[in-house]
Amino acid sequence: MKKFLSVLLVLCMCVSSALPVFARGGAIILDGTWSILVPQEPTQYETFAAEKLRTELSAVFGTEPAVITSAQGSYIAVGSASQADVSELSVNGYRIQVIDGNIHIGGTGVRGLSDGAYRFLEEFCGRKVYTYRNIETAKANSISVPADTDIVYNPFFEYTDTDWLSPCDAEYSLANGLNGGTYRSLPAGAGGTVNYLGGFCHTMGTLCETEAHKESDPEQLALHKGERTTDQPCLTNPDVLKIATANVLRLLEAKYDPQASVQIVSVTQNDNYHYCECDRCKEYEKAHGGVQSATMINFVNQIADAVKAAGYDNAAIDTFAYQYTRQAPTGIVPRDNVIVRLCTIECCFRHTLDDSKCSRNVALMKDLNDWSKICKRIYVWDYTTNYSNTCLVFPDFNVIQRNIQVFYENNVKGVYEEGNYYIRSCNAEFGELRAYMISRCLQNPYCDLENETDGFLASYYGPGWENIKKILDMHIENACKTNDGHLSIGEGPTASFSFNNKQIAEINDLWKNAKSEANDDLQLENICRSELSWRFWKGSANKGEFSLLNPERFNERQKLFDDFKAFDVIMLNEGGYNDYLDCACVRYAPVNEWNMYEEDESGTQARLFFCKILEALTPFLTLNGLLYNLFGVKP
Ligand SMILES: [Zn+2]
Ligand SMILES: [Zn+2]
Repeated sequence: MKKFLSVLLVLCMCVSSALPVFARGGAIILDGTWSILVPQEPTQYETFAAEKLRTELSAVFGTEPAVITSAQGSYIAVGSASQADVSELSVNGYRIQVIDGNIHIGGTGVRGLSDGAYRFLEEFCGRKVYTYRNIETAKANSISVPADTDIVYNPFFEYTDTDWLSPCDAEYSLANGLNGGTYRSLPAGAGGTVNYLGGFCHTMGTLCETEAHKESDPEQLALHKGERTTDQPCLTNPDVLKIATANVLRLLEAKYDPQASVQIVSVTQNDNYHYCECDRCKEYEKAHGGVQSATMINFVNQIADAVKAAGYDNAAIDTFAYQYTRQAPTGIVPRDNVIVRLCTIECCFRHTLDDSKCSRNVALMKDLNDWSKICKRIYVWDYTTNYSNTCLVFPDFNVIQRNIQVFYENNVKGVYEEGNYYIRSCNAEFGELRAYMISRCLQNPYCDLENETDGFLASYYGPGWENIKKILDMHIENACKTNDGHLSIGEGPTASFSFNNKQIAEINDLWKNAKSEANDDLQLENICRSELSWRFWKGSANKGEFSLLNPERFNERQKLFDDFKAFDVIMLNEGGYNDYLDCACVRYAPVNEWNMYEEDESGTQARLFFCKILEALTPFLTLNGLLYNLFGVKP
């Protein structure tokens, strides 16, 4: 009997060490006693993922998990130490599984394992990286993970990039799936970045050395309107092809990384319309749909062939479908290692790209469809801000997700969402919110974006976030009602919005409510910063406190100017980086005109002269001012 009891005891001990504690409802309980299992000789990707899990789980449980190389106790197994079957995943995918009561995280490519670790922390530990300084982490004694967990993720895009503020931060990019190398640098253990070797765009002049051959071989230059010009090369000239190919191969020789999932060399037209019209080019284009993209694809295809023949299997040649090359050719197909980057610069952002009623987007959709029939590797260069009035709300929040879905559904493999890349000098709108929405949709175009957005708003703006949500909805609803109904990336303030006095009072109240509920200084700062966009609109449209009936409007403009400066907003738009800080008419001009009045210009002096008289007389010219002056009581 004694022997039987001791066998039973040993048996029980074996079972309890081999099996984790199962919680009610088929979940396993992860706590501070768990270890992280890595192989004997971990790769840099396994080391990185294990280290990330160790650091973050230490923060959750308050005790540091051990990193082990042979299975014992309960553990999270990483990479080749895990039993997660990743054989069916695409490049840079991951799988998170509970097997025999332990957690297994496997990944493919260079980024998969890191993404798997971040996904685990988000999914089960509630870790959210909303901005570079809004990182939410839970503290807990234990965490419940469903016993049937089996999360499989394959990336929707091979290249994801955007240039808003937080996306330039490495931790934010790793947590939210960004990998482009132009605006961030990521650790090698997390796969590094997808890089454009050489220039990012408009590289044709440099690669073809057009300027250098101007005198010696003018036939290498584009023949445009009867004249040879260095603005573009002649793409059917065999010498031009030779020079460009040699330069591309030289770039690869210097910067080739066989570990990278993809490396890109951009062979893209210069930023003008002066394409070659020589007989040879025209003839080729005539035979291929009568479009300029024909000679472009023919040119880059030949470079791509040379790159492939030289053994650069993971390199791709990128070219534009932009302005005069936007339409797809016929009778010629881009090679598999050619990327065609389509630009949405002419589009409307009030309507989704696939909205058949939006006249501006129908043409782009046709081009996208045409390219998707012949090109397996389309990238998109998309736009997400107002470049003329960057402080103004750009009401595109309702099209971001559908547009990214449209890209995915049309063979798009890479997306660059260009935004306010000068945000450090012009952060006055909803940049961080938009960046988060974009990042999440690039990571998964079919994510629950409303839920993600609500989570962001609550974390970033605090308990009064529903007021901000209402403000955003009102802007989307009101957008472009008085112009032709479409939203371009350079819309003016009064074309963008036409709020009436009742709506203005309502939105004022919503801002006030949001501020009154802020939990801390950071949330209050975030609210006041975004509110600058609302004050910018009122100050441009002479509405609300900036109304021409308000004798205080001069002081209100001065106050807004001072607040812009206090928030480090030193630019109002993209154009030429003109700052407005030397505006001599701050008190006398609508906000969107502040760029115009420099002290030494004659128009400025005239305006100053008359407006100073107006300011002095205004208290007697308006009813408000008159009451104030007669009774000394502000109405
Ligand atoms: Zn030509
Ligand atoms: Zn439209």
